[in-house]
Amino acid sequence: MNYNEEITAIKGVGEKTAKLFHKLQLQKAGDLLEFYPRTYTQYPAPMSELPEELPTEPIALRARIQGKVFSKHTPRMDVTTTTIRYDEGPLELVWFRMPYVRNQLELGSVRIFYGTIKAEGKGYKMEQPMVYTTEQYEALQSSLQPMYHLTKGLSNNLVKKSVQSALSEITYEEYIPTHILDAHNFVSLSEAYRGIHFPDSFDTLANARRRLVYNEFFDFILRVQLEKAKESVIANELQLPNHALMDKVRWKLPFQLTRGQVDCLEEMERDLNEAEVTQRLIQGDVGSGKTIVAFLEMLRFAENGYQAAIMAPTEVLAQQHYETFRGYCEAYDITYPVYLLLGSMTAKEKREVYAEIQTGKPCFVIGTHALIQKKVQFGNLGIVITDEQHRFGVKQRMNLSTKGVHPYVLVMSATPIPRTLAMILYGDMKISTIHSAPKDRLPIKNAIIEESNRTKAYQFIGREIAASHQAYIICPLVEASETTEAENVTEYSKRLQKMFGSKARIGCLHGRMSPEEKSEVMRAFARNDIQILVSTTVVEVGVNVPNATVMMIENANRFGLAQLHQLRGRVGRGSAQSYCMFIKDKSAKDTKRLEILNQSNDGFYIAAEDLKLRGPGDFYGIRQSGDLNFQIADIYQDADILSVVQEDVLALLSIDPQLTSAQGQDVRAHLAMRSHQIYDNL
Ligand code: ADP
Ligand code: MG
Repeated sequence: MNYNEEITAIKGVGEKTAKLFHKLQLQKAGDLLEFYPRTYTQYPAPMSELPEELPTEPIALRARIQGKVFSKHTPRMDVTTTTIRYDEGPLELVWFRMPYVRNQLELGSVRIFYGTIKAEGKGYKMEQPMVYTTEQYEALQSSLQPMYHLTKGLSNNLVKKSVQSALSEITYEEYIPTHILDAHNFVSLSEAYRGIHFPDSFDTLANARRRLVYNEFFDFILRVQLEKAKESVIANELQLPNHALMDKVRWKLPFQLTRGQVDCLEEMERDLNEAEVTQRLIQGDVGSGKTIVAFLEMLRFAENGYQAAIMAPTEVLAQQHYETFRGYCEAYDITYPVYLLLGSMTAKEKREVYAEIQTGKPCFVIGTHALIQKKVQFGNLGIVITDEQHRFGVKQRMNLSTKGVHPYVLVMSATPIPRTLAMILYGDMKISTIHSAPKDRLPIKNAIIEESNRTKAYQFIGREIAASHQAYIICPLVEASETTEAENVTEYSKRLQKMFGSKARIGCLHGRMSPEEKSEVMRAFARNDIQILVSTTVVEVGVNVPNATVMMIENANRFGLAQLHQLRGRVGRGSAQSYCMFIKDKSAKDTKRLEILNQSNDGFYIAAEDLKLRGPGDFYGIRQSGDLNFQIADIYQDADILSVVQEDVLALLSIDPQLTSAQGQDVRAHLAMRSHQIYDNL
């Protein structure tokens, strides 16, 4: 079987299971192989006594089968039970629809039962425990068990079984040239897939991971390089003689552009005079003022008769840009229309925007992914910008259907990546960096606060509000949860409203609200109709309300460093002193990350520290959260592999630029076969 067959081709994966896999973005058989475990567990040592406090995690109990085994069969139900005894009381073991389990329950033999234990009546109960002999269990204990991301209805066991079938049914051939494999001492691809899912030791896992990281970077960089070879022949046909309007707005702004912003504009101007089409990445830490640079550049295109588009990763951010742009147009008498395009708009609303876009008349278009659907046909697109590019993942490249000239492509990112890395990841993209924040900014003051000191924090927020500022409070959850003990926005905002009474209006924001509700709340917050916004991380990227001066993050130790840095970036966006309070869980042991944030506001420094903290031996950080999302590779942690791959790929292409040799053709065939992975989700 090959990678690209439907996932249902795998033994044991029926229509119903396939639907669940689809929810996890797994479509093809091969996707299962690359559905890497989220983490691994080791089977716990078996106990011969019940633990005093019942754990919520599965445990392993060692016991001798002494009692009778009962089976009940009805056409609809099939139940097998037996009871073992402990000092604390009887423990009932129950299996549904597993009549064959009886054969494993031989009277007098010792077995190990692995499952979750619950209190029931006077005794205890374990449902569907796995049954092992001591030898079987010992073998398991020395291996690592994969734990997968799941969705409702899909059990870890089912995923494990499906992956197992995928491993034995799919034929995967080596495609990386042998001299490369040998030079790096890699395990084979089949060993790597097996080893990442079912490692028998940490060494196996490490070797498997190294090989798969290499492959992922290899595919990616090769694609970037091949694209680059194709792209470099596109002539720049953009005609941009006018800039009066752009200049006018620039000088009328209520602030002076920073050195970095000015440099950016100049570098872009140079790009536009090149004979060939260029692309540029603008890197600037949170709050460095990338939006105005984007707007000014888009304005230049509009006044030269082109359409200008900008894509944001979230609806909240797209909506905000829309309103910012409309505000600029109004303030500076700019008459080009501004259109918004979101996935959540009705078909009719979208059709209206499509029709306008198709005419080719100059305009600003702001949207989410909805911008790059096939139905969107720009009549005369001159520039396209991706904001918060890292959120889209490096693999997703702009894929707009355009007529006419090739547009200028600009991407903006607040994720600090070292220049050398950026050059590898973005191929021939030129890079501008906005190093400094606007002059009027004061560094954010940070504090790590114990839960018990929350009252003081509220008093502090109260004072800021009395001084007509605003605050964000971030909670990890939307609603109360039985399994996670962390703050949730729903209850939190109610509690806070009671506490602040008429002194402050509290708003609540989370991803489960409808787009209209979300934008209504954001607008109210921007107008200062809401003083304290209790929100989940939906405000993490791009949101800009400069009057907000306090950020308070509940359960802060549960968030990643990069995420905390982005969240904190929501304040310190105006001239007033801003504050960030990290509330730490009582039980939090590891506060190193919070301390790093407490010490510094510099994104590059934080990223470097993050890398040191996680270190190369961190197998549990297999998937980096969100940023620059590769399946398994992590651009920081695996930076050394990345540069090795870059060298290998360039060497390969220097002897075989078109991949026409026998080995080159294998590589090409592989890339073609796996293409769905990279581009399908656009
Ligand atoms: P980011 O780089 O995070 O996208 P924004 O573009 O949202 O940042 O800018 C943050 C805030 O700083 C905005 O309110 C913007 O108007 C303001 N701003 C941008 N440039 C300057 C500047 N040169 N001087 C003062 N304020 C600025
Ligand atoms: Mg921004």
